[in-house]
Amino acid sequence: MVTILGRAKINLTLDILGLREDGYHEIATVMQSLALADTLTLTQQKEGITLRVDLPGLEADERNLAHRAAALIMNECGVRGGVHIDIVKRIPVAAGLAGGSADAAATLRGMNELYALGLSDEDLCRLGAKLGSDIPFSIMGGTVLATGRGEIMQHLADFPATHVVLAKPSASVSTPWAYRSYDAHPPELHPDNAAFLEALTRGDRTRCIELVCNVLEPVTEAAHPVIGDYRTRMRAHGALCAMMSGSGPTVFGLFAEERAARAAAEDFRSGTDAAVHLTQTAGRYGE
Ligand code: ATP
Repeated sequence: MVTILGRAKINLTLDILGLREDGYHEIATVMQSLALADTLTLTQQKEGITLRVDLPGLEADERNLAHRAAALIMNECGVRGGVHIDIVKRIPVAAGLAGGSADAAATLRGMNELYALGLSDEDLCRLGAKLGSDIPFSIMGGTVLATGRGEIMQHLADFPATHVVLAKPSASVSTPWAYRSYDAHPPELHPDNAAFLEALTRGDRTRCIELVCNVLEPVTEAAHPVIGDYRTRMRAHGALCAMMSGSGPTVFGLFAEERAARAAAEDFRSGTDAAVHLTQTAGRYGE
């Protein structure tokens, strides 16, 4: 039996550079792991893949990304035997926090351990990329510049440890919808990733925070104006910055002081219908 965490992520920057011939968007994004994680317990069984998820409404069959990841690795490695996967879901679903990718990544790492497959991180990332662009990042964690479809990773210096408040409005956003809406009306403002990387190398959190920017934010916000309200609410509580993660709709606030982060989380819990989490930035797995 193996118990393993699948961590959520936020995007500190997210740029779209164009549309590729294969239909995917070329992106450049700084992704950051969070301590907030789902817990997966993998148990060997004679044959087949079975799944239990503690969240009613989330598919617990072959459509679940953890199931698909288990099937892929068993197929590719000729695993004889099966697995039961139990998921304790904490990461909000369809929220821009890559919760499905986190579970797929954890399953790949867990199966590697459970069946002593001896795969390297690079092998696992190659497998993960077949299932989803965010999965290689979710396998490694930390602070990463992801390019291509999001599957090409450059490890960066860790973003300085920071308190994070997540507030997910009740709406759910489909990632393909956000990219289609972007194509219809591309916004003008793009992040300066080069300046962000330079500031990160110097460990200059203040400058990094001035440079957080997500091209999808105005796109999703046009359909969900509550995102702007949540940003304002985070800032009113002293957030160093507040922005939407990924394709949304979750808004994250970064806080220097735990006390201010706690107060902001309390205010969101009592004053809005958001799903709220108080967490921190996290480094690479195993560090
Ligand atoms: P991303 O940012 O990676 O595009 P997201 O964080 O916005 O994704 P997810 O939470 O990964 O969204 O969920 C997207 C969809 O994937 C869900 O609506 C759900 O139907 C499906 N899904 C399949 N497996 C899982 C899983 N293990 N956890 C969450 N969602 C899953």
